[in-house]
Amino acid sequence: MKTEFNVPKPVNRRFVLSIISFFLFFTACPSDNGSTTTKTPLILISMDGFRWDYFNKTETTNFDELIQSGSKANALIPVFPTKTFPNHISIVTGRYPENHGIIANRMYDPVFDESYYIGEGSAPVRDGKWYDSEPIWVTAEKQGQKAMTMFWPASEAEIMGIRPSEYFVYDGSVSHNDRIDQILKWLDYPAEERPTFISTYFSHTDSYGHQYGPDSDEILKAIGEMDRTIGRLIFGLKVRGLFDKVNIVLVSDHGMASVHLDSIIYLDDYINMDDVYMVDWTPIGSISPLNNVDEIYSKLKNVHPNMSVYKKGEAPERYHYRNHRRIQPVTAVAREHWSISTHEYIATDDHAEGFNGATHGYDPAYKSMRGIFVGHGPAFKSGFSGPGITNVHLYEMMCSILGLNPAKNDGSLDSSRVFLIN
Ligand code: AMP
Ligand code: ZN
Ligand code: ZN
Repeated sequence: MKTEFNVPKPVNRRFVLSIISFFLFFTACPSDNGSTTTKTPLILISMDGFRWDYFNKTETTNFDELIQSGSKANALIPVFPTKTFPNHISIVTGRYPENHGIIANRMYDPVFDESYYIGEGSAPVRDGKWYDSEPIWVTAEKQGQKAMTMFWPASEAEIMGIRPSEYFVYDGSVSHNDRIDQILKWLDYPAEERPTFISTYFSHTDSYGHQYGPDSDEILKAIGEMDRTIGRLIFGLKVRGLFDKVNIVLVSDHGMASVHLDSIIYLDDYINMDDVYMVDWTPIGSISPLNNVDEIYSKLKNVHPNMSVYKKGEAPERYHYRNHRRIQPVTAVAREHWSISTHEYIATDDHAEGFNGATHGYDPAYKSMRGIFVGHGPAFKSGFSGPGITNVHLYEMMCSILGLNPAKNDGSLDSSRVFLIN
C-alpha cells in the first residue's frame, strides 16, 4: 500500500485531514457588519421523481445511513400540478404555484405574449421575469450569505436582480460524480468565500420512472445509482470531518404513476381541436378556447369518468390553482393512471410509446405522487421518523436553519419543527 506523510493507513490519513478540515472549516467568517459568525452550510439535494416508497424497494446502504442518523418524513407532499418546475420552485420559495407563477412546466403568459417551457437550452427558464417569488438563494445573497447551485430549476436565472454567487446552466450530461465533487469543492473554499446554501439536482429517477415505470427492475438500478451518488457525498464529507457538521436536506419533487395506452381520454371525441389552443396536455390539460369558453367547458365537463374539468377560478381550493394569469380558462385533470390526448396524436409516429410508461402531474392527494424528505445534520433530530409534510413548508425551515429572514411565503415553521432539534 502506498503511504504518504509517513501515515501508514488511509484511515489515519483521513483522520489527519479531518482534524485540519475541522479547524479550517470552523474558522470564523466575517459577516456584513464586520462581526464574525460561524455558518453551517446547508446542502439541498433533489432527486427528481423519487417516490416516497423507493427507499424500500432495493438495498440502499447509503440512504439508510443518512436516514438512521437523520430525520425522515413519511412523505414530502407535492403541490398541484405535481410537475417538476412548479414543485421545485415551491420548495425554494415556500409559495404555491399560483403565487410563484410557475403553474406548470409549459405555460403561456398573456402579458408577455410568450410561452414558457423547460428542458436543456430553454431560454424562458433563464429569464427571471417568469418568477414572482423569492427563492432561498436570493434570500441568502440579499442577507450577506453566499449561495452556490450545482443545478436547481431556475437557479440559472437572475431573479429580482440577484443570482447565486456561483451557478451552472442546466446540462443533464454532467456526471453525477461531478455534481457531488463540485459541492465538495465549494466546501473546501476558504471560510470567507464558502457558500452557506448549496443545491444540486438529479433527473435520473424521473427519467427511468417515465420510461420503465415505478415498479420496474430498471427503476431499482436508478435507485441504486442515486444511493451510490449519495454515498460519494457522505464519504467526501466524512473525509473532511464534516458529515455531522453540515445540514443535508434530501428531497424529491413528486412521485410516479404508471400509465397505459388503453387509458387515454381522447379530447377530440368531445370537441373540435381547431376550437382550442392546448397550452399543456397531460395529465393536466391547460386549454385556451379560441372563441367560446362556456361552450368548450360544457362539452368537456362530466363527459369522461376519469377526467375532471374546471373553469378558471373553480378548481378545488386545495389545489391553490385559481389566481394566476397563466392559468388558462379551462383546466382538465386526468385521474391517476390516465392520460389526455387525441386520436390523431396517438396515431402519429411513435407517440403511443410514451403512454405505456409512467408519469406525474396528478392530484397531490394520490399516494403515488408523494416524494421524499430526509434531513441530516446538526439542525435535525437523529433517528427520527415523522409525518408527511407539504413542500411549501421547507423554505421557512431552511431559512430558520440558515438564520435568514424569510420572504413572504405560504409555509410555516410549525409544520417542520417536528424534524428539528430546536
Ligand atoms: P418533468 O418533465 O416534469 O419530468 O421534468 C424533468 C425534466 O426537467 C428533466 O428531465 C430536465 O430535462 C428538466 N430540467 C430539470 N432542471 C432543469 C433546468 N434547470 N433547466 C431546464 N430544464 C430542466
Ligand atoms: Zn420532476
Ligand atoms: Zn418527470
